[in-house]
Amino acid sequence: MTPNKPLIVGNWKMNGSLSFIKETVSFWNNQQIVNPTVVCPPFVYLEACKNLISSPLLGLGAQDCHPQASGAFTGNISAQQLADIGCQYAIVGHSERRQYHAESNALVREKAQRAIDCNLTPIICIGENLADRESGLTLEFLAQQVTESLPEKSTRIIIAYEPIWSIGTGKTAAPENIAEVHQFLRQNLGLDCRLLYGGSVTAANYKEILGIPNVDGVLVGGASLKKEDFAKMMMNAD
Ligand code: PEP
Repeated sequence: MTPNKPLIVGNWKMNGSLSFIKETVSFWNNQQIVNPTVVCPPFVYLEACKNLISSPLLGLGAQDCHPQASGAFTGNISAQQLADIGCQYAIVGHSERRQYHAESNALVREKAQRAIDCNLTPIICIGENLADRESGLTLEFLAQQVTESLPEKSTRIIIAYEPIWSIGTGKTAAPENIAEVHQFLRQNLGLDCRLLYGGSVTAANYKEILGIPNVDGVLVGGASLKKEDFAKMMMNAD
């Protein structure tokens, strides 16, 4: 696939407040947005965010969803409930969920399938840790993670390649490493969907990253909380 515009996704993680959202989304509504953008606030702010968004290029995503349709799962949120309040995307398998909530590839696959069944587009995160990178096992690791984390009917998915050692560390992967992985995902693993890169993407480096072959967008953590910086990515500005 060669989408004509890159997709910009902002993951706010467990950050923000109602007043922050009001100020930030109002600011974004007034920018000349050219790249389709998805903002993923904490669950409790999804609806407030949706009500504030006025640009057709600004979409809404959740940071997770539950694999089951409904039931006795205290504290969880279903994909159907997310769709019900106007969510269009759900991040699944973020490395912080894999690490702090012991989420397996099998669970990530179930979540992605449930998201698809509820008309959400899952943004499935994959990425190697530093030990695998340094041992030269990156491609092998990713091949297994992709095989085990992707739902069978993967017609409507987005993959985000996020090397774990690069998330929130300020250490962006080298362009040649990103190029190698994205080419591997596209050609060797045959992934025909949008492929995002994530890991310390900033307003200063996003253009170079988007210029790498087979990179169809970026997943942004820290810099998506800086409204001017994230606006630059939406506007394709320097
Ligand atoms: C992320 O959390 O998905 C991420 C890429 O974070 P950061 O941009 O802060 O590295």
